[in-house]
Amino acid sequence: MSASPDAPDSTDVVVVGGGIMGTSTAYFLSVETDRRVTLVEKDSVAAGSSGDSSAIIRHHYGGNRDLDPHVYAKMAWWSHQFYRSFTEETGEEITHEDAPLVRFGTEGTGLGDAVDRGYEVLKELDVPASRYDGAELQRRYPMYAHVGEYDFAVSDDRAGYSDGTDVANGFARAARANGATVVTGVGVTGIREADGSVIGVDTDAGEIDCEDVVVAAGPWTERLAADVGVDLPLRTTRENVFILESESFREQYGDETPMVSLPGDKWYTRPAVGEKFLVATSAHTEDADPDAYEQEPDEPELLELVDWIDENMPVLDDADIVGKYSGIYTNTPDLGFVLDQIGPDGCFVACGFSGHGFKHAPAVGRIMSDLVTAGTTAFVDVDFFGADRFDSGDDGSRESATTADS
Ligand SMILES: Cc1cc2nc3c(=O)[nH]c(=O)nc-3n(C[C@H](O)[C@H](O)[C@H](O)COP(=O)(O)OP(=O)(O)OC[C@H]3O[C@@H](n4cnc5c(N)ncnc54)[C@H](O)[C@@H]3O)c2cc1C
Repeated sequence: MSASPDAPDSTDVVVVGGGIMGTSTAYFLSVETDRRVTLVEKDSVAAGSSGDSSAIIRHHYGGNRDLDPHVYAKMAWWSHQFYRSFTEETGEEITHEDAPLVRFGTEGTGLGDAVDRGYEVLKELDVPASRYDGAELQRRYPMYAHVGEYDFAVSDDRAGYSDGTDVANGFARAARANGATVVTGVGVTGIREADGSVIGVDTDAGEIDCEDVVVAAGPWTERLAADVGVDLPLRTTRENVFILESESFREQYGDETPMVSLPGDKWYTRPAVGEKFLVATSAHTEDADPDAYEQEPDEPELLELVDWIDENMPVLDDADIVGKYSGIYTNTPDLGFVLDQIGPDGCFVACGFSGHGFKHAPAVGRIMSDLVTAGTTAFVDVDFFGADRFDSGDDGSRESATTADS
């Protein structure tokens, strides 16, 4: 974006964080309300997880114990329609490519059941989806070496992918065009309150008086929540992304390559622009400090990728690795989101988007705008996203976590 204005002394709503969630929230607040909105970003727009996102937009949710697949599938579908009409809605251009997303299943297993459950949900919601089995699997997905070992596949036919940096900047520009102030290079250091209500924020460039604050600070959210006395059970983990280039792969399979995550496997794949192909992890295993983590995969992680290719997609054996980077997931115990009011009146939080936030960002922005202005939303049952669901100390179920991410 162009040069950032100085932070104002006062505004109605401060949105903390210029990732996909903060920019979407600022956008919806700016178009749906007449509140003065100021987005404050400590670095640049999309400097956090959003800039590293694989930005896969699928609607298939098999669900684990706590992630109701209906709620997430519906939000993802609504958000995807918004992404598809982003230019008409916001006046801004974004990248968007169609690509089906495929999940394989084995009958009688927990993961297989989750894949089928997700299929049923798509059917109920009238989201285009197909189920294949038998010889059809080999015919459709020959690039995956172990395809013959699965009983069936569910294709989320109208899935797609985009670009986190692109979309966050699009939302930020559109918010600004609708009257919001977008300040970059300024960090929020604390939330000020009096008599149980928010009265402003402290920043490293001075104070901003405000009535409401929405904390959408990605992996840094826990620190600001602690500032208002709320302990959010967030865990930040590091994930790796590799961009491969293979002329022969594209020649053989062209643009028909689906996006895939293999059951129980931490890797997923996505086509990328040109001859390129993206392979990335969604493992939730390596704890990471968002201010001090390895920003690139190291040698052993590279070798792990090579082993994965040999074992699962030998057709990529000749590929060159033309890009690699690491990014951060912010995970709640059940891998579901927190969209809630916390601490003093006027303090809201949108966090815990793990590896599946991008696809929901338009819905999240709309929900947060409703929460700030009306205290509730007709869009979803917002209790579902309450921070108090972790109060019991239950650390949630991860049995089907692989069906929740990316
Ligand atoms: C490698 C990777 C792959 C992914 N792939 C997918 C995918 O395929 N599909 C999908 O749906 N999701 C995916 N995700 C998840 C998705 O990208 C995230 O859920 C989403 O980007 C989170 O956005 P956010 O705005 O909450 O956080 P962020 O993008 O991290 O934004 C938070 C912002 O807040 C700013 N900030 C922090 N503290 C302060 C402060 N005190 N003051 C001011 N500013 C502050 C930061 O600088 C940052 O810009 C992926 C994530 C990663 C890392």
